[in-house]
Amino acid sequence: MDKSKDRLERRCPRLGGDVSFYYCRTSSDDSSACWKIFDCWWECFDVVDYLNKYLPKDKFNKLVNTKPKPKMASLVELIEQAKKRSS
Ligand code: SF4
Repeated sequence: MDKSKDRLERRCPRLGGDVSFYYCRTSSDDSSACWKIFDCWWECFDVVDYLNKYLPKDKFNKLVNTKPKPKMASLVELIEQAKKRSS
């Protein structure tokens, strides 16, 4: 496993202080990655590619599926629902 990213740090929106990438990739139940890891790290490096490479497939898929929807997608859905209700 490539551990070169482990010492990168950023401010955690959940904890309010700085955390390392190592913390983010191990801080959830059963030492798996925090569900916000894509959102928090995509601007620093290609975190999707990294996790895809180093996580077991089932863990990676679980993370992808728990990823909150991008705001735009949720907005579009809300608009569609509103349209349906008014038609
Ligand atoms: S991935 Fe999770 S633990 Fe890491 S900075 Fe984001 S919210 Fe905090």
